[in-house]
Amino acid sequence: MEEFEFIAQIARKFSTLVPPGTLGIGDDCAVLPGFTGENERLLVTTDLLTEGVHFFRAKSQPQDIGYKALAVNLSDIAAMGGRPTAFFLSLALPKNLEPNWARLFLKGLHKCATEFHTPLLGGDTTGSETSITINICVLGRANSTRIKLRSGACVGDVICVTGFLGDSAGGLGLVKAGASVVSRLSARDQKSLLRAHFRPRPRLDEGTWLACHSAVHAMMDVSDGIHSDLPHILEASQCGAMVFVDDLPISGALARFCKAFRTSPVQVALMGGEDYCLLCTVNESAINRVSGEFKNRFGRPLFQIGRVTANPGRLEYFEQGRRVKPKGHPFRHFG
Ligand code: ADP
Ligand code: MG
Repeated sequence: MEEFEFIAQIARKFSTLVPPGTLGIGDDCAVLPGFTGENERLLVTTDLLTEGVHFFRAKSQPQDIGYKALAVNLSDIAAMGGRPTAFFLSLALPKNLEPNWARLFLKGLHKCATEFHTPLLGGDTTGSETSITINICVLGRANSTRIKLRSGACVGDVICVTGFLGDSAGGLGLVKAGASVVSRLSARDQKSLLRAHFRPRPRLDEGTWLACHSAVHAMMDVSDGIHSDLPHILEASQCGAMVFVDDLPISGALARFCKAFRTSPVQVALMGGEDYCLLCTVNESAINRVSGEFKNRFGRPLFQIGRVTANPGRLEYFEQGRRVKPKGHPFRHFG
């Protein structure tokens, strides 16, 4: 069964238990009433990482796994325009684990928690047969008047992303290629792609900044690649999109990676996952103002990659004015 069909089944089965004023399954976080102030809302998000699916013990540093496990959850808080409040950590660790693994894992996790001011307040620990499983749950808060949902996109909106696409997939490509890459790509390019893969930065400042602008209509984070993630906004907002592939932000490092490995940067940018930048739609009459202010504030552009259209569920790609079909397959963890 497809992952999203399974989740839809769960959502249907449990929907009658969800009280009014609470947003459950379907966005980057659940949104519940807050504890203080009328407009405060509680955000909740959780992610599960399994050895052999999300990471390989032999190919990743435990510090990186620790850092990323929290960073990807914080990215979901950023996607709602919220701030993190606390997190909970549950671990299943095998008996044969290398003695240093847990210490280094906690070191990376602590670095991310410190950088983004998020206290660890609890969790659960258990043994396992052979593999590591990591679950993190983050609580956050946001102002109800500013929360950005996937369902907010309007026809005519400009579709934007906050950072380069495909770098993390490039980094994963380097890990898979192993020693054979050394001569093909400069050390600097390798470092930059590997960093994007192993140390994604949750875009919390960008998220709260975008959330303050009423011209920003819908927002989510890019965890599975634009080709997989944009349809979630289109479905929730009942509209379609045109994406102009010439406008996809592709880093110099990824362009050189694709040349060296003879792959298409557009394909990697659309299908590669784990970029953890933010994807948003902005009212077209405000796009120049919002992107100009974004550039002033962050020193980087808010990249404009497409338009929201009136065709529900239809995602079309254009290259130099011509309609094109994307090649390749998105990465799937499930099924
Ligand atoms: P993200 O990539 O933002 O973490 P997912 O694709 O993992 O989002 O999940 C999509 C939505 O489905 C989220 O609202 C999430 O809470 C919900 N979801 C995923 N798996 C389950 C599950 N097993 N039970 C209930 N809800 C789930
Ligand atoms: Mg998300």
